[in-house]
Amino acid sequence: MSEPANRLWDAALGRIQLQIPRPTFDTWLRNTHALRLEGNHLVVSVPSTFTAQWLEDRLQKLILKTLSSISSQEITVAFVVGTENPRGNSFSEPVNPNAPSSINNPLGGTAFYPEYTFKNFIVGPSNQLAYAAAYALASGSPSAYNPLFLYGGVGLGKTHLMNAIGQFATSIGKRVIYVSAEQFTNEYLRAIKERKTDGFRDRYRSVDLLMVDDIQFLNGKEATQDGLFHTFNELHRSGGKLVMSSDRPAGELRLLEARLRSRFEAGLQADLSAPEFETKLAILNALTEKISNPIAREYLEFIATHVHDNVRTLQGVHNRLLAFIEFTGQEPSYELAKMALGPSSLKETPPILDQGMILDFSSKAYGISVKALISPQRTKEASKARQLAAYLLNSKLRFSPDQIGQILGKRDRTTITYAIGQAKEALITDPQFKEFVHSLEKNKQHSSHFNKNIESA
Ligand code: ADP
Ligand code: MG
Repeated sequence: MSEPANRLWDAALGRIQLQIPRPTFDTWLRNTHALRLEGNHLVVSVPSTFTAQWLEDRLQKLILKTLSSISSQEITVAFVVGTENPRGNSFSEPVNPNAPSSINNPLGGTAFYPEYTFKNFIVGPSNQLAYAAAYALASGSPSAYNPLFLYGGVGLGKTHLMNAIGQFATSIGKRVIYVSAEQFTNEYLRAIKERKTDGFRDRYRSVDLLMVDDIQFLNGKEATQDGLFHTFNELHRSGGKLVMSSDRPAGELRLLEARLRSRFEAGLQADLSAPEFETKLAILNALTEKISNPIAREYLEFIATHVHDNVRTLQGVHNRLLAFIEFTGQEPSYELAKMALGPSSLKETPPILDQGMILDFSSKAYGISVKALISPQRTKEASKARQLAAYLLNSKLRFSPDQIGQILGKRDRTTITYAIGQAKEALITDPQFKEFVHSLEKNKQHSSHFNKNIESA
């Protein structure tokens, strides 16, 4: 294990996380660790050869670009397969915050995140009802609502609360099963297929508390809904309790069978909404108290003011700020805090130019659809739009004619090279074409000018 390697990789992950979809990050990068930095060669451990291959194929370019820009020199990277995490804790967003342990798992059904307890849950107006209901249910209070339906957008604490309920209830001797709706579905369908539905029913009926997370996943899955309905009824009859979570209220789960929906609506529905300023600050405080060099309140307030969506984002920004401080060796500052917030927080900043934007822009310019742009169609508009797209992909994003050919409906490279040539000519001979290219560039200039103003603010 090596410190410079860790810092470099953490800082890179912090940036990459802002640029790729979260599930992609979680699947392919979250469980990677820097092993060592040899000169400018970084060795990163990944969990499987499949991951190594995938990263090399899909993310290599972004990773190299990011590493090089952070360390201001060319960095090369090698992915090696290894299982152990070479360091105790991490500066990036928790690498599976202490992966669920199965010690408190007497029935073999449930693994909880030890960190996700009631004690670690910050209560504020945005989640008070959900917290109180969860606590009452876990502690076996006679006034608890059953079933309890927790709903709210991503990253607002549903899974945290369910884990808290599960750990508390387990600690007072209750038998608990906590599953994601996806796991429940898989298990149920497998039981049907293998004709083991009796075993399935026994297993679920025998618990004191069943929790199913993210049941919006069941939307439209009728067979599984049926299974859940019966499980629930049997559980209810024998005095068992049920907790569900969803990203929206039960009434809005359109594809959920009415009988199941009305079951949920009969209990308590408690929502978790985006935290307000004071709660955000309390959450950040709790995070920063855990580290040896806590971040000063003024920067936490700054982050709390600028993060609007959810707690997970809040944690991400806090951890990125830590990584930046650690990596650059600078004192915390508003500058670093802005960097940690990332471009998404500066609402007015136009999105970074990417492939999708270029395809949209080029097809709109000539009044056609993106579908037409990548179709075999040979109208004048489609050809012009294709020339524009090919030129922009090549000059702005540095895509090769081969890559562009793939993007533009599997055309071959000579066709693309020809189109780029035509585009260069059009820049001189076709005022409208030239105007399109300029308007895109003007936008970009505008954005970098804007960023400068923000940065010196
Ligand atoms: P959801 O399941 O609603 O998408 P999670 O429960 O996974 O959200 O929460 C995302 C992260 O935010 C977790 O790390 C969780 O511990 C944390 N979190 C959410 N709400 C709170 C809170 N009120 N206090 C402390 N941490 C929270
Ligand atoms: Mg969740």
